[in-house]
Amino acid sequence: SYIIASACIDEKAADCVDVCPVDCIAEGPDQYFIDTDICIECGACEVACPVGAVYYDTDLPEDEKPYIAKAENFYKSR
Ligand code: SF4
Repeated sequence: SYIIASACIDEKAADCVDVCPVDCIAEGPDQYFIDTDICIECGACEVACPVGAVYYDTDLPEDEKPYIAKAENFYKSR
């Protein structure tokens, strides 16, 4: 699934929210998060992001992997 990583922090351009066809990207305190239960993996957000913050999870650099759990925790605590 797709994950929004560190480049979103304090950037929050929100272009991804506008292009997501299933409206599964929500605003958190410091970044946006993708709800992987709803995401249809179309990839539109990855293309739209002006700072390259969105990765397919298997493409995440090692130091960006904590963002998988960060998104999970965000949606668990809502
Ligand atoms: Fe939305 Fe598509 Fe991005 Fe999933 S991959 S969050 S469906 S824009």
